[in-house]
Amino acid sequence: MPVEPHVHTPGPTDIPFPERPTHPFQDMETRPIRKIVVANRGEIAVRVIRTCRELGIGTVAVFSDVDRTAPHVLQADEAYRIGPAASGESYLRGDRILEVAARTRADAIHPGYGFLSENAAFAEACENAEVRFIGPPADAIRTMGDKTAARALMRRAGVPLVPGSDGAVESADQAARAAEAVGYPVLVKAAAGGGGKGMRVVREAAGLDRALDAARREALSAFGDDRVFLEKYIEQPRHVEIQVLADRHGNGLHLFERDCSMQRRHQKVIEEAPSCILTPEVRERMGAAAVEAARACGYVNAGTVEFLVDSRLEFYFMEMNTRLQVEHPVTEWVTGLDLVAEQIRIASGEPLGYRQEDLALHGHAIEARVYAEDPANGFLPDPGRLVRHRIPSGLGVRVDAGVEEGGQVHIHYDPMISKLTAWGRTRDEAIRRLERAIDEYEISGVATTLPFCRFVLGHEAFRTGQFSTHFVEEHFTPEAMARDGEDQDVLAAAAVLIDAHARTRAAESRHLPADAPGFGAWRTRRS
Ligand code: ADP
Repeated sequence: MPVEPHVHTPGPTDIPFPERPTHPFQDMETRPIRKIVVANRGEIAVRVIRTCRELGIGTVAVFSDVDRTAPHVLQADEAYRIGPAASGESYLRGDRILEVAARTRADAIHPGYGFLSENAAFAEACENAEVRFIGPPADAIRTMGDKTAARALMRRAGVPLVPGSDGAVESADQAARAAEAVGYPVLVKAAAGGGGKGMRVVREAAGLDRALDAARREALSAFGDDRVFLEKYIEQPRHVEIQVLADRHGNGLHLFERDCSMQRRHQKVIEEAPSCILTPEVRERMGAAAVEAARACGYVNAGTVEFLVDSRLEFYFMEMNTRLQVEHPVTEWVTGLDLVAEQIRIASGEPLGYRQEDLALHGHAIEARVYAEDPANGFLPDPGRLVRHRIPSGLGVRVDAGVEEGGQVHIHYDPMISKLTAWGRTRDEAIRRLERAIDEYEISGVATTLPFCRFVLGHEAFRTGQFSTHFVEEHFTPEAMARDGEDQDVLAAAAVLIDAHARTRAAESRHLPADAPGFGAWRTRRS
């Protein structure tokens, strides 16, 4: 039997597969959701389970061999093994996940992000098996998953696009003509791209052929699809994305923007809401364009429309992510909405129940992604055991962690350990709070992005909001990060000495032992 129940599953372990329940008076569109299979792992699986708990919805975790005791498995009501460590044999096995759904009589599947979340065939298979897929219709995933199809649709819908080739470029000649038309520099991009793969910047005509070949090869090996297209390369852009929600009743609205310009290797590492560069007027136009983009592809559920913004605040559609994003907590902070709860309500067939004008931005939130990566070594993944993992807390601090102390960051999956977010009434307050939380965060056993995030938060360019997606190339060196860390360590050492002195004096006057556990025990932030 491919699906083995986990040891802590309550009740007998040899339950026969039930017949699909029939609901003569309720079709699938309006049936309530009472139990959800969470088809993911790590922090996002834990995050989905938490909301289900609050809503009184049962949860079923799935896990691979190396995740037998992972937090998401321990927190779910039931858990089933779906295969060995390699994600191709476990978390990407839609058939096994559907078997678990049938066996546990679950009403719906939440795919999280990554894995099967943007797999149109899986969304379709769920609907065919009469299990609700908590995400958009398969057609919307398919259209938006193909960057050239998405561009064509957006052009028809009047959403501003980065100038570029009309579709995939078939030949070197056609590419050269398209590049001349938009003007150098251009970016060669994979039609089926994702995660920053298959992209090449070309500054002049001489480099185009080589870039096309390289991008095609990379796209073929990463996505099994070698189609590429061209876009104008926007210099010094900001990455600003709009969160949208749409229900089954034709209502759509946006939950404002997130600024994700702080990237390494074209991948986000610090995100904030709202963006400190937008004016209310641009925010409104971008929001309207994003809602229009969602409407044009028949979108239902939560999605994100990504734009590049240039120095004149002109914005251009880049792509739509048809799932919950990693960085959604910053939107939750500034809107007060639980996005997973909204996703589940929408999937249950409920109308949104509020309008655009009912929504307002409240304060400022920033997320620091904590990856097991070494910023001093090109952000290379550094998997291993978390010897120590003590997370910060306090007013306005939230940690979504997928690994506990003693747990393992596996080589098989994304090396994310947690997402640390902080809220403040102002951007400055949010920055200072996040700095404080990073200083409180104790982690060892692996290198992490925390010292990098601390460096960014203290940097003048970030403080003043004057940065682009090129911050890392322009401002970051491991040496500068180390210097910054040493300054912090000197301050921490001074605090410890002052604390020790105060305690000695207090001990003398009140007869307390001077070696009672201190408030400011020495530790280095670098692991
Ligand atoms: P992926 O789907 O691979 O993540 P995206 O299209 O979302 O690729 O782009 C990822 C990042 O690459 C963006 O956030 C931005 O930093 C950069 N980028 C993408 N397109 C352009 C462009 N036309 N000009 C400049 N930078 C770009």
